[in-house]
Amino acid sequence: MRLRPQLPGRRRRLRRLQPLTADRALRVAVVGSGPAGFFTAGHLLAADRAVEVDLLERLPTPWGLVRLGVAPDHPELKTASRTFEKIASEQGFRFFGNVEMGRDVTHEELSRLYDAVVYTVGAQSDRRLGIPGEDLAGSWPATAFVAWYNGHPDHQHLEFDLDVERAVVIGNGNVAVDVARLLALTPAELAPTDAADSAIEALNRAAVREIVMLGRRGPAQGAFTPKELKELGELAGADVEVDPADLVLDPASAAALEADRARAQRNVDILREFAGRPAGTKAKRLKLGFKLSPVQILGEGKVEAIEVVRNELVADERGRIQAVPTGEVEVIPCGLVLRSVGYRGVALPGVPFHEEHGVIPNREGRVLGEGGEPLPGVYCAGWIKRGPSGVIGTNKKDAAETAERLLEDARAGLLRSEGGELEELLRERGVEAVEYAGWEAIDRHERGRGEPHGRPRVKLTSWDDLLARARELERQS
Ligand code: NAP
Repeated sequence: MRLRPQLPGRRRRLRRLQPLTADRALRVAVVGSGPAGFFTAGHLLAADRAVEVDLLERLPTPWGLVRLGVAPDHPELKTASRTFEKIASEQGFRFFGNVEMGRDVTHEELSRLYDAVVYTVGAQSDRRLGIPGEDLAGSWPATAFVAWYNGHPDHQHLEFDLDVERAVVIGNGNVAVDVARLLALTPAELAPTDAADSAIEALNRAAVREIVMLGRRGPAQGAFTPKELKELGELAGADVEVDPADLVLDPASAAALEADRARAQRNVDILREFAGRPAGTKAKRLKLGFKLSPVQILGEGKVEAIEVVRNELVADERGRIQAVPTGEVEVIPCGLVLRSVGYRGVALPGVPFHEEHGVIPNREGRVLGEGGEPLPGVYCAGWIKRGPSGVIGTNKKDAAETAERLLEDARAGLLRSEGGELEELLRERGVEAVEYAGWEAIDRHERGRGEPHGRPRVKLTSWDDLLARARELERQS
């Protein structure tokens, strides 16, 4: 699969380079083509000097979580891709899909080939709960479920047993809201989306009738945003339920709410409205529980129940409200547990990594070496820089900061490369890179498949299909 020559497409003539001087283009490799990668590329290409950006991506497709993370029933959030398309059309931009850093090219090689390397690889893994039973069959990281229903080619073999009556979602962030909502959507709500066809079929067949979403802290500490929370009360096939007792705020939360009239207050108002609704009659129930932490996941060989402990909320010395277990436990029978307690960054070979925080150590995007000093020519942006927080747009400011530091270093004469061509190196290794034109062929094909059904696209979900579609170009030329 990897022994074909590079696909044809737009090529750029490059010179062999040595020190970076004002009269030659600054050459930058950006690794990871999600929002942070594209925003970094866009900021660099808009600089008042010549810049050439090669955007490397492990998958044959760009856009990161905009394609493979954003919920399929939220097409408005995917319009960020139009900005990315515009950036890709800029002079000096090239895409190298199907190229994995560490496997196909090393950090040392990129550092030699380019004046600067920017890592924008996001957070590739998930945080663990660290409780007994976490790895029982039927207990999944929500990140895997998200990747599966969004058609990620590495997650299509996963078999989620949805033939269960009750699913429990752990966490109170927007990803928890997404996965809880996806389990509650009706076939009519799923039909116009770009979710993977196989996932739509499985979700439509699912026996799940009750989804329980559990927050370890209270309604005032939800990490979800009001818009996403409110949507849970507007589902065609599921009634949302909140126990009014959960909305009696402890003094610390009430005081915190007074201080924060924005998000937390709106969330609590929405939850109060949910709690005041009469009992519903829809086919599914979506229960939002608070002040409950998972203790262990129970079952013989597979998930049968989850034991949770009731918490009380206590402000610590910094005023942050902490969940403290009371000892009062409860067992909730369920057949599926989705653990949605945050993403986590993964170390890249040869690149410094802060194990505890799951990020690349950096100062304003300049990667720091062991002594805490910036490594010349190495940068990071996005989730691998600041951790898995914020929305798509947050990455624009974050990427701009990194790109500015890089341009400052270029002006200060701190950047240099040995020259040479990534294309040549990949060709010698038999690595089949997918150029931007190859992705455009995939994109056209997917949109074409979706169009007759009123769907934005029908995704190709296997590596073979994606690479074959990119290769079509080769046959046509
Ligand atoms: P998140 O916002 O950090 O939420 C993580 C949740 O997990 C929090 O409620 C946290 O509770 C809880 N948690 C952590 N450790 C726990 C434990 N041991 N036991 C129980 N609960 C635990 O993470 P996320 O939901 O993965 O989202 C990642 C980012 O993507 C966020 O910035 C999010 O807003 C964004 N996103 C946005 C959208 C959208 O705009 N529609 C959609 C999806 C994701 P504590 O607060 O108590 O720590």
